[in-house]
Amino acid sequence: MALTNMQYEAIIREYNAIQDYERQALNDRQAIVQEKLPEYRELEAQTASLSVSYLKRLMNNEPGAREALHNELETLSAKKSALLERYGFPADYLQIHYHCPDCKDTGFIGAQKCHCFREREISRLYDQSRIRDVLEAENFDTLTYDYYPADALSHYEKTVQLCKDFAENFDRNPGRSLLFTGTVGTGKTFLSHCIAKSLIDSAHSVIYFSSVDFFDTLSKNVFDKSKDGLYSFYDDLYNCDLVIVDDLGTELTNSFVGSYFFSFLNERQIRRKSTIISTNLSLNEISERYSERTCSRIVSIFEPIVLKGQDLRIQKRSRN
Ligand SMILES: [Zn+2]
Repeated sequence: MALTNMQYEAIIREYNAIQDYERQALNDRQAIVQEKLPEYRELEAQTASLSVSYLKRLMNNEPGAREALHNELETLSAKKSALLERYGFPADYLQIHYHCPDCKDTGFIGAQKCHCFREREISRLYDQSRIRDVLEAENFDTLTYDYYPADALSHYEKTVQLCKDFAENFDRNPGRSLLFTGTVGTGKTFLSHCIAKSLIDSAHSVIYFSSVDFFDTLSKNVFDKSKDGLYSFYDDLYNCDLVIVDDLGTELTNSFVGSYFFSFLNERQIRRKSTIISTNLSLNEISERYSERTCSRIVSIFEPIVLKGQDLRIQKRSRN
């Protein structure tokens, strides 16, 4: 989906606001010139009467009339520019100042989105992800193998490659989902951040939740009776290209919220949307903590990725 309709409309509103602002700014500059330079006013009047005086000749298709008008208008325009320059106004003072000259602040070049639209789109996707700042620091470019113990290194390298493949071929594998398991500090969260950044940069929508936030938001929205909030929350949750639930098992849960977790997995699967879950729990523990059907749903949907090794955070601290 990349953007929701609401996000898309918000971007269009931004372009409309820029256009209104710049049109008003141009009007203000025109008023200043009119007020300060009576000669400019005179040239403007000449421009208007010139066009009127040519009207009949143009309508009669008089040979050479169009070219003659064009030349006279050019001469007047050059006089106006020279006048502005003489009084110290910048050359583009009486032109619209486009923020993006490529699309003239419309966001589109023909039917194609302009690069500036795409930048706005990606920026919104970062905001939506809830981890904009984290992704600056944790991504495939900053990933290092330095702290990985030698015996687990080749397994880790293969896992990184699988994560890159997941992100690069995302559109070719709708609904592909990953379950990162393994002990604390083996890089599960970091890898999910790497995937998130890579996907957002290619204009996919990603929402990240810590498990605590995820269940908290689920239960708040279950009890929230305001329809609009609820609609937009579920719209994002079910239609977003990738949802990441980090550290499953660290939340306080109950069977009521647990059943919404099952619905969430179900809905994402039906819509062929990808999900990444990371957890320190084993499958047995997942089954005990949530339910057997939730566990079997996870087994059937998710590709398990086991991260091995000792706690990298301890390794880092001991070396620093
Ligand atoms: Zn543009």
